[in-house]
Amino acid sequence: MPLSQALRKLTKAGLLMALTPRPLPQPVPPQFRMDLHCAYHHGPGHETDRCTALRHAVQDLIDQGLVHLGQPSVTTNPLPAHTTHAVSHPTDSMHPSTSLSLTSIFTC
Ligand SMILES: [Zn+2]
Repeated sequence: MPLSQALRKLTKAGLLMALTPRPLPQPVPPQFRMDLHCAYHHGPGHETDRCTALRHAVQDLIDQGLVHLGQPSVTTNPLPAHTTHAVSHPTDSMHPSTSLSLTSIFTC
């Protein structure tokens, strides 16, 4: 997902806030591009997709487990469901006796 899209989603979800606009640095650094605009910095200098500060901010949220950018939607409810851990029944999927008897039928 492009960073600009991530910023839009995360801002909507209330997980991220764009930085407050700051005056241009003086002198303007050589990599500063006046023709590009960053939505995170609210100003010119670079593309939103190439914003290092935004990348770090998004990475922090990923590290905290609040965001999964691999999925189509951002997690809007960071609170874990109470039943998540109790749902799995590993014993149900394992029937050693059943598979044993099946194997014996096929090998005969
Ligand atoms: Zn930026």
